[in-house]
Amino acid sequence: MDHTFDTTLEYARTQDQLDILHPFRERFLFPQHNERNTVYFCGNSLGLQSSAVQYLMDAELADWAKYGVEGHFEARSPWFSYHRQFSGNLAQIVGARQEEVVAMNTLTVNLHLLLLSFYRPGNGRYKILMEAGAFPSDQYAIESQVRMYGYDPEDAIIEVAPRQGAHIIEEEDILNAIREAGDSLAVVLFGGVNYYTGQLFDMAAITKAAHAAGAYCGFDLAHAVGNIPLQLHDWQVDFACWCSYKYLNSGPGGVGGAFVHETHGNNPEFFRLAGWWGNEEQTRFKMQKGFAPQKGAASWQMSNAPVFNMVAHRASLDLFQKATMPALREKSIRMTAYLEYLLMQLTHLSFTIITPKDPQRRGAQLSMLFDERGKEVFKALTENGVIADWREPNVIRIAPVPMYNNFEDCHRFYEILAAL
Ligand SMILES: *Cc1c(COP(=O)(O)O)cnc(C)c1O
Repeated sequence: MDHTFDTTLEYARTQDQLDILHPFRERFLFPQHNERNTVYFCGNSLGLQSSAVQYLMDAELADWAKYGVEGHFEARSPWFSYHRQFSGNLAQIVGARQEEVVAMNTLTVNLHLLLLSFYRPGNGRYKILMEAGAFPSDQYAIESQVRMYGYDPEDAIIEVAPRQGAHIIEEEDILNAIREAGDSLAVVLFGGVNYYTGQLFDMAAITKAAHAAGAYCGFDLAHAVGNIPLQLHDWQVDFACWCSYKYLNSGPGGVGGAFVHETHGNNPEFFRLAGWWGNEEQTRFKMQKGFAPQKGAASWQMSNAPVFNMVAHRASLDLFQKATMPALREKSIRMTAYLEYLLMQLTHLSFTIITPKDPQRRGAQLSMLFDERGKEVFKALTENGVIADWREPNVIRIAPVPMYNNFEDCHRFYEILAAL
């Protein structure tokens, strides 16, 4: 705990003046409440729109009108290679080589496509290990994958759960479960950050343990990308997928992303479902028989790129490039600790923060578990211009996002709760 925090508004304002990322806030459009910015703490669910999106979208519409099909090569940002403009920025955010990432589809679709490559059960290796309480889409995806190969989810899926009475999962228990599963284990598929508790997992250690057991290791980075600095390449992660509409601010249903480590991505024999957009660019338009995968994650692409869906992504990744993940993370650690400090002063409300206290084990999110009247508190927050997130049965999730939230937002949130 940083003992320099205090509860005055003056303190919050001073921190905002000292914040080198402060100018980024001005580039985002905040939903309004009584003609004032809301306290928007929902960037872990849907990030805000930056003002560049409108401009860039208008440019694409104009180029489509002007060029028609010729826009694939003639547009100011040719659609044929549109995704390549930002793949360098994307690679940097997840700690990958440029060839190891691709923006395509949406998260759950990418999870399925990657599992079709990395989950190839046989010879007694057929189990998938995951976190208990994973996001439902991941649970459904994995259940249907194991069923597709004729396995019973009860047997083929190993879930690592928090210990009795606890909310977060002990790292040690994850590593032990992987070791115990041994050579029955085909894939470890974990979240980078749990969506409910905000727990950040040690991805390097989990990957190492998975490999020691002879299994592949993949991550769902929905709540980690743009939130936590990642080093997917160096951690030797085999595959990962994410969505772009949470911390990456790329709009509702925005284009998802995938990572495939170069050891697999550059191996043309490694199985992937094929489509024309994954084929080598030189021969793509020859319309020949015989799929020749291009190098890297891009070979998992099937269809041509959804350009309109990539406009907001491009705008957002440009801001990440300017702000940089290390600076965002530094502010995030401090701002989340400050918000936590303020919440601890609210002794008249009965809640527990179930997110880990250690900044190395969490990102921007705090999850407040209410013993009682949580829904009433949530309602009062909404009426006072706070946008947060309610998760049944009794959790309020709040995410002070370093890109556009500030210390004064945290202070307003605190004042509203203090007045209840
Ligand atoms: C948000 C989220 C998803 C959403 O999946 P889509 O395919 O983008 O709808 C999936 N998994 C996790 C862990 C999430 O947090």
